[in-house]
Amino acid sequence: MNWSKLWEDCVRFAQRLIQTPSMPFAEAAIGELVADELGALEMDEVWRDEIGNVYGRLYGKDRSLPALVLNTHLDHVDPGDPTLWPVPPYAGEIVNGRLVGRGAADIKGPLAVQVYSMAALRRAGLRPRRDVVFTGVVQEEIGGAGARHWVTHKAYDVALVVLGEPSANEIALGHRGIVQMWVQFNGRSAHASVPHTGKNPNYPLAAFLTNLAATQHTLSAHLLLGPTTVAPTLLEVDTKSTNVTPAWARVLLDFRTASESVRSLQAFIQQTAPHPPAQIELAWEPDVPDPDATITGFYMPPESEVVQRARALIGAGMGREPALTSYQFATDGRHFTPYHIPMIGYAPGEESQAHTAGESISLAQMEESLRGYVALLRDF
Ligand SMILES: [Zn+2]
Repeated sequence: MNWSKLWEDCVRFAQRLIQTPSMPFAEAAIGELVADELGALEMDEVWRDEIGNVYGRLYGKDRSLPALVLNTHLDHVDPGDPTLWPVPPYAGEIVNGRLVGRGAADIKGPLAVQVYSMAALRRAGLRPRRDVVFTGVVQEEIGGAGARHWVTHKAYDVALVVLGEPSANEIALGHRGIVQMWVQFNGRSAHASVPHTGKNPNYPLAAFLTNLAATQHTLSAHLLLGPTTVAPTLLEVDTKSTNVTPAWARVLLDFRTASESVRSLQAFIQQTAPHPPAQIELAWEPDVPDPDATITGFYMPPESEVVQRARALIGAGMGREPALTSYQFATDGRHFTPYHIPMIGYAPGEESQAHTAGESISLAQMEESLRGYVALLRDF
């Protein structure tokens, strides 16, 4: 196999991916581009599903083994003000050894590497040890409907999912989960000219937020995934009138945790509030409905056999041992946790590039990652 030709084709594919904008719900064109490429690279099977996900399968030497799944999403966030970019966000230009553009690191550079690791084996006339399935899923940036569709409809067993979220070619063993709760304080509405005739819920809400700034450090931490954090985000009241005091006021708390449960977070809110809140309500149902279960995005113990084997193969491919690390952001991996599917994150690109103006990825890191992936696919 001609490595420099393979690498050139991989970079060109990454550029074409960036040149094909793919905001959530507008992933049809990129889905077609990826399916065409998988077909041209002679995968054994290429198919789409009804939600818009795209798949490619390379048959393994032993087709009875559970599959190795490569997962990336097809969508990206809005590029924002184009004047803040050094080059246009959808040009796919290379500047000083880095590919620049919306989605370069999150997640089109990694997507190209995953697809071309499969192509590398095909061009070398090699078969992977087990079936390899590429899954390109829609709507990751807005809740993960594509990933949830894949995990609930797949008709084969999975040995390992490799998430292509940027990890700088180290191995990410997890990230914290998300829980969002509304905390509401009730009062009694009054005309703003006679406030003493009512009971203004903005005061207990303010007292609660002041206490929260002081008590948040008491939330517990996970050994590897780090401390639980809380961020108050939205504030709402029932009235739209400027001269009426509200009947209720509420704040949305965004918790990131791998060590607390819904129940323990509710207790934390009760203890923090100087006046008892009228209501504590989940903003949406979490993936794991048990209120006493510890919330995690995903977590793979470093000593697990799957992690050790994947790390050794990737290390041999790259010529250096990847560190074991974790993600700050959330990924589609959280939707696979309830199904007990083993997962790691491994991809080129820095997490800090994701969602920024001027997003870019190092080409040297992409090539190192391609070598790591090829070794993993061949022998895992
Ligand atoms: Zn991503």
